[in-house]
Amino acid sequence: MWEGLGYYTRARNLHHTALTCKGVLPKNPEELGGLKGIGKSTAHAICSFAYQQALPILDANVKRVLCRYFALSVKDDKVLWEKAWKLLHVKHPYEHNQAMMDIGAMICTPKNPNCSVCPLEFTCKGKNAPENYPKAVQKAKVPTKKRFALVVLQEGKLGLIQRTQRLLHGLWGFVQLDEKPSDAKSLGKVTHTYSHFKLELEALRCESLHVNVDGWFTCKEIEQLALSTVDKKILALPTMMRTVAPTS
Ligand code: SF4
Repeated sequence: MWEGLGYYTRARNLHHTALTCKGVLPKNPEELGGLKGIGKSTAHAICSFAYQQALPILDANVKRVLCRYFALSVKDDKVLWEKAWKLLHVKHPYEHNQAMMDIGAMICTPKNPNCSVCPLEFTCKGKNAPENYPKAVQKAKVPTKKRFALVVLQEGKLGLIQRTQRLLHGLWGFVQLDEKPSDAKSLGKVTHTYSHFKLELEALRCESLHVNVDGWFTCKEIEQLALSTVDKKILALPTMMRTVAPTS
């Protein structure tokens, strides 16, 4: 059901936590923070939104608002937690946290913050140059990995593996190699960008190579499998139509 949505680890953590808690979440932030996929800010969000506890939150939007409001050039979590506590409205934590998230999402946006309509404008220390808070950090360029996907066929069925590694765990796809086999025929290239790298994947037909797969499937059967986006891109290559028998 989660196929193609990304954030697969989040989905697994959510499922694991739902089973661990047997449907009832703990009510204190320390216990909540010990559950898979729940960090400090999420634990505080649950406690304030579900249980009306006076705890601040610190998601990406709130961090930006706090940096600007207190004119902080550096995004330091320890300092930001202190500021979040200082600003928290202890009698109305639910409304306070919701307002901070809304201001971050709709008014104090990364580009073009709209200070003239911001309820914090009167006391905001960074309103004259919000773009300086926090100072932009040069992001490292995501590396590009070149890999090869093997398109193997047996009686009109495609051989696929079910991934066991952390990335794309549980999803089906073509066998991938780092090196190009010698007598491979190219079927085309696809690209896909993940959060930490860009993948350039060349689909190859290589009849002489023995490849271990987890199952053989017709195109119709593949429609029922959870497939990663990059593998769907390979299936959509025009050359694949000619490679796989039209009846399959
Ligand atoms: S006044 Fe401007 S910089 Fe300050 S919090 Fe509001 S939108 Fe952000």
